[in-house]
Amino acid sequence: MYNIPPKIHLAYLPTRIDKLNKISTEYGKNIYIKRDDLTGMELSGNKVRKLEYSIAQALKLKADTLITCGALQSNHCRATAAAGAKLGLKTVLVLKDGEKTPPSGNYLLDLMLDADVRLISPQDYKNVDKIMDNICNELKANGQNGYIIPMGASNAIGMFGYMEAIREILSQEKELGIHFDAIVDTVGSTGTFAGLVLGNVIYNAGFDIIGFSVSEERSYFQEVTYNNIKDCCKYISNENYTHTPQSLGIKKEDFNIIDLYRGEGYGINSPDDFKLIKHLASKEGIFIDPVYTGKAFKGMLSEIRHSQLKNPVGSDIPKDGIHADFSKYENILFIHTGGLFGLFPKAAEIADCIRF
Ligand SMILES: *Cc1c(COP(=O)(O)O)cnc(C)c1O
Repeated sequence: MYNIPPKIHLAYLPTRIDKLNKISTEYGKNIYIKRDDLTGMELSGNKVRKLEYSIAQALKLKADTLITCGALQSNHCRATAAAGAKLGLKTVLVLKDGEKTPPSGNYLLDLMLDADVRLISPQDYKNVDKIMDNICNELKANGQNGYIIPMGASNAIGMFGYMEAIREILSQEKELGIHFDAIVDTVGSTGTFAGLVLGNVIYNAGFDIIGFSVSEERSYFQEVTYNNIKDCCKYISNENYTHTPQSLGIKKEDFNIIDLYRGEGYGINSPDDFKLIKHLASKEGIFIDPVYTGKAFKGMLSEIRHSQLKNPVGSDIPKDGIHADFSKYENILFIHTGGLFGLFPKAAEIADCIRF
């Protein structure tokens, strides 16, 4: 009763689910991690699941060039460039260049993957959709055929990656003999969260899905998520079934997006972020990243503490704002969406903070 579009095979799936034993003991919950950082190496992280659907669409339309955009250190752009190289497609990346820095991290890898990188100012980036349209038109004038993937591949087609991840998690629950009460993810451009929410409904999975924003406010991301789901309903509908958010019982207000742990803004870290990243590394042997998963993981642990103690003494958990009630949950699954290469451009900052 639901149409699922075709995909190509790029990611190493299924990704493992492991228990974080020491963190679980420390926080009095069973905390598990799904290693979507291990969907590949060059093609690592959550974007690969989305690109399996976006690029299938591009190939169907006989595209020879992928065009996409993001921040200078975008994991999505690096994954797209790697997929392009592997599949013999050209890749044009429109990157927001905040500061002129020597190539490092993902940006260095983009260049090594031979992507056609166009650096634009944050001011110009406001019109990035128009800029990508223009590039696509230029290509057409030269007899080439571009396919535009929006930022983060967070559109209706990309969402299928995480709708289908819900099915993967359901089958892993059976294998492991565990039911996860809540799934926690990072919200950067919402495709992952929106896919999980829709998959949860369609596959009747019964999870609470909780997203931690690393950039925008809760209400903004609720709106974007809703629009993504509405668009995706067109894809999943067929001649016998017309789906809408209403028909699926999906309401904007129900999207559980916590925006209390964004810090000073996208890509900006506090020393506490790095300490938490180091804590996880030293206790569990797992690296999370500064821009996305580090903030979300820190948010999840803080919200668990908040649910247990309400006003933890001396903590930096915000008093105001909307919290998630983790007291209801025993088994929690955090999705590690990747981003490791983002650690390296912050090497000096990290080194300063962890030598305490
Ligand atoms: C892009 C990204 C996210 C956010 O996912 P969205 O689907 O854009 O919300 C989370 N973690 C990492 C490492 C990412 O690169």
